[in-house]
Amino acid sequence: MPRPTLRTDRSAIAANVARVRAATSSEIMAVVKADGYGHGAVTVARAAVAAGATWLGVTDVTEAVALREAGLEQPILSWLNPAGVDAALAAARSVDVAVGSVDELRDLLDDAVAPLRVHLQFDTGMARGGTPIGEWHELLRVARDGRDRGLIDVVGVMGHLPLADHADPAANTPAVLRMRQARDAVLRAGFGPVRVHLAATAGALTDPATHFDLVRVGAGLVGIDPSDTVPLVGAGRLTAPVVHAARVAAGTAVGYGADHVTASDTHLCVVGVGYADGIPREQAGGGVEIAGARHPIVGRVSMDQVVVDTGDVLVERGAIATVFGPAGGAAPTIQEWARWAATIPHTIVTGIGPRIGRSIE
Ligand SMILES: *Cc1c(COP(=O)(O)O)cnc(C)c1O
Repeated sequence: MPRPTLRTDRSAIAANVARVRAATSSEIMAVVKADGYGHGAVTVARAAVAAGATWLGVTDVTEAVALREAGLEQPILSWLNPAGVDAALAAARSVDVAVGSVDELRDLLDDAVAPLRVHLQFDTGMARGGTPIGEWHELLRVARDGRDRGLIDVVGVMGHLPLADHADPAANTPAVLRMRQARDAVLRAGFGPVRVHLAATAGALTDPATHFDLVRVGAGLVGIDPSDTVPLVGAGRLTAPVVHAARVAAGTAVGYGADHVTASDTHLCVVGVGYADGIPREQAGGGVEIAGARHPIVGRVSMDQVVVDTGDVLVERGAIATVFGPAGGAAPTIQEWARWAATIPHTIVTGIGPRIGRSIE
């Protein structure tokens, strides 16, 4: 029986990078946090770099080291760093780190042993990370002190767009102004040159005013435009085998709680993935593709399996069901799954569990 597998399509990632490239002349950072949005951090990073991305982005230094171990030599920025920054490791592996507050910067300076490349992160209107404007002065004072002691080099100025899922330049204006203000404050404080970066996927695709020197693109690499305005190519295909199939009579109760009862004589089959693999249990209207046709999931999603009603078609055990894939065929897209589960496509792809095999095409 072929095992449930998520295939990552490198040509889709290349097409998505090309789409971003067409929208900006700034450099492109490939953001591969959360294992490359579930598609494999190294796989996505390599494909994005081959297609023209010149930076890599992650949320902690451990993720960055894994990219270095895989041979990726591009500049890497790690922000957030929830487990703290191992400053010696970051310096040894040439990993840039972002600091989002005076406290964070002081902690870093306590540990820094070699000049560590730092990006100062400013709150550009989100109140989720980034130094609030009232602390900028102190942040810059402490950063100057760290630089003068030879502990850090300030090489970047970072913000984040609060309306990262909008395609609305007017709504981005306050963040863009705040970003310019931060850049000017950093330059006036005697740092420079610095790379300035604000936009994520939606800003990169829809609002040139947000681009500055570098755009940080994560979701877009795997085919998600959070603003839902630019068609990108889904980079993942999740398949699983049919492990059981049978003909049943009208009136047959299906699955836990008998939530579904067949309305007529039909064929059911069981596909071997469930909520432990990332299939949303709270979904309505979901389906899978088998042999070129879409069939509905019926009854509750179980931990390891779902039941599919194939109507007149008796599916063979061992047939392959596609849970999601790129748009264009009968297979559902991750955007459809997001609608069925009342969520965003990001949670679908980052939720794919460890039992699912991975492959690259
Ligand atoms: C995740 C993240 C990104 C990438 O956002 P996408 O919308 O997935 O492109 C960019 N910047 C920061 C700070 C992030 O946390």
